[in-house]
Amino acid sequence: MLKTRFTELLGIQHPVVQGGMQWVGRAELASAVSNAGGLGIITGLTQPTPEALVKEIERCRQMTNKPFGVNLTILPSLRPIPHEEYAKAIIGSGIKIVETAGSNPAKFIPMFTDAGVKVLHKCTSVRHALTAERHGAAVISIDGYECAGHPGEDDVTNQVLIPACVDKVKIPVIASGGFADGRGLAMALAMGAEGINMGTRFMATKEAPIHDNVKNKIAEAGERDTALIFRTLRNTSRVFKNKIAEEVVRIEREKGVNTKIEDLAHLVSGERGRKVYEEGDIDLGIWSAGMVVGLIHDVPTCQELVSRIVAEAEAIIRGRLAKMVA
Ligand code: NAD
Repeated sequence: MLKTRFTELLGIQHPVVQGGMQWVGRAELASAVSNAGGLGIITGLTQPTPEALVKEIERCRQMTNKPFGVNLTILPSLRPIPHEEYAKAIIGSGIKIVETAGSNPAKFIPMFTDAGVKVLHKCTSVRHALTAERHGAAVISIDGYECAGHPGEDDVTNQVLIPACVDKVKIPVIASGGFADGRGLAMALAMGAEGINMGTRFMATKEAPIHDNVKNKIAEAGERDTALIFRTLRNTSRVFKNKIAEEVVRIEREKGVNTKIEDLAHLVSGERGRKVYEEGDIDLGIWSAGMVVGLIHDVPTCQELVSRIVAEAEAIIRGRLAKMVA
């Protein structure tokens, strides 16, 4: 067992979180991770309406009696999103753990904390972590440059970002981006974090509600198989390097700072990315993936994965590292 302030605060067995993932974070995955002793998280905006999200939360409750959370991401979008309505639906459904991510959470964290909800704020810089702490976040999920999705614009890798963050914030920090195995968990703990958050690794699990082609592609891929898009829009996103991502990068290179979302929308829409997961054609749209695809080589169940990661980390800490101390 690995016991940290984070596991104690949330009442979970293992310091392993499955973070929000558009189109992937549904009840099947969140419940499987929570049943395995980690913290599963439903992705709020994957559900088309706040009412549908309430139903998804209810569905998850039928599949687990362990704690699970809901992600609410606030980023630019092609379709207008009623974030506040989603927040109210989450609170109304009795959820007690929320992962916020994206832009400044100043408006949302107090809404949640006033309702007794603990907020894990996922962010990509120390200054944003301090802002979230000041506004009442319970936990910081610090997200390094390696991560899938939106790594921010500072390009600081976790080797520096994790210790820089734990040196500054007082609340528990978990490390996100680039984690897939027990070595990563042991490293994060050694750096002062109190748990890890994983996304891409959980996509390649039996319970992830996505097409097997995507899982197999992740298991085959190497660490150079991701690309950064939206750099020119200052909304950088790390995605799997497929034909569409290469085309987006080409357009951005050509248009430079004059690139507009309208130049890319037909290629990058979330609706198109969703079809990749449903139909299994890897090149249908863009889909988020972290550099950690290079460390993923199999498709286990969530139970096998979480148990293996924790056992590996314990063996490293108790065995290999302890024996090095002369
Ligand atoms: P979408 O179809 O609205 O947009 C597709 C992509 O284009 C997204 O990455 C979005 O951030 C980006 N984008 C849209 N308008 C933009 C603009 N004006 N400037 C810069 N970039 C722009 O996305 P979707 O897949 O339907 O997702 C809806 C929302 O959820 C988006 O804000 C998205 O970023 C966010 N999201 C959440 C998660 C999560 O884990 N919770 C993961 C990925 C995306």
